[in-house]
Amino acid sequence: MSDDSSGLLLAGVGGQGVILAGMIVADALVRAGHDVKQSEVHGMAQRGGSVFSHIRWGSSVDSPLVPLGSAEVLAAFEWAEALRWVEYVREGGAVVADLRTIVPPGSCTDRRSWSIRYPDIDPDLLGRRTLKTRIVDASSTAAELGNIRAANSVILGSVAAFLDIEHVHWEAAIERLVPAGTEAVNLTSFRAGCEVVEASIPPRPADPDGFPGPHEIDIRHEWCKGCDICSRVCPEYCLEVGIDGELALVDAEACTGCRLCELLCPDFAIAVSPPTENVSRGELVASAGDPP
Ligand code: SF4
Ligand code: SF4
Repeated sequence: MSDDSSGLLLAGVGGQGVILAGMIVADALVRAGHDVKQSEVHGMAQRGGSVFSHIRWGSSVDSPLVPLGSAEVLAAFEWAEALRWVEYVREGGAVVADLRTIVPPGSCTDRRSWSIRYPDIDPDLLGRRTLKTRIVDASSTAAELGNIRAANSVILGSVAAFLDIEHVHWEAAIERLVPAGTEAVNLTSFRAGCEVVEASIPPRPADPDGFPGPHEIDIRHEWCKGCDICSRVCPEYCLEVGIDGELALVDAEACTGCRLCELLCPDFAIAVSPPTENVSRGELVASAGDPP
């Protein structure tokens, strides 16, 4: 690894365009004359899992992995991912974080409460005071420009403010790598990201009245092979595979609607639909027993 190498980390959730954004950064750095190495993890991308891309550049780079506490910039496409990866940023480095929140399916495990286990959008949670932070609302900016899927180009525009790469290289990389037909909106979004002002942080939404009623669980028995994955991941023990290999819903009332069963079934054999209406606390407690 060369002494002058620098690192950047992009992190988000599957489907947000993190990998494409990483390719654009790497391409722009190559165009700017750097040796560049890139590595990414995207195994659970199709199921809403965490996706990240490490990029290192310099005169000669041996490893693509960005060591803890050394990144020049963290580009987080989702708020919880900003918190998850912030420790990789060096003192004095920069964090570009999107306001977007994607609540993981497993964060709802208490059916007696609407509260979700998701952190507040609060820059203080990023911890260290020496970081340069820029919180953006990339999705809204891209939507206003005509295509919400260009949000990653808005984020790259914000990242560009912290990297010494000429805009001509960024724009050439974007034009080469984005899907055909979306070059114009991605370039416009990138330029908007360069100008972007700090997004105002929305207040945490108030808890709604009442509690969610039971969710609908639809088991497609003709597709189910009884592998037991869904019943093992269900935090509320709602599902069971019998000795005949048939999957059964054994406790519908306990279902929180977390969708882990649906997301992890390899055969798309189970589907979760939201409740049609809320129930009062009294009704819920009556059906579920006393709270712990
Ligand atoms: S049945 Fe599925 S949606 Fe309901 S709690 Fe269990 S894993 Fe979550
Ligand atoms: S994970 Fe899918 S295939 Fe396996 S038991 Fe559950 S519904 Fe059936």
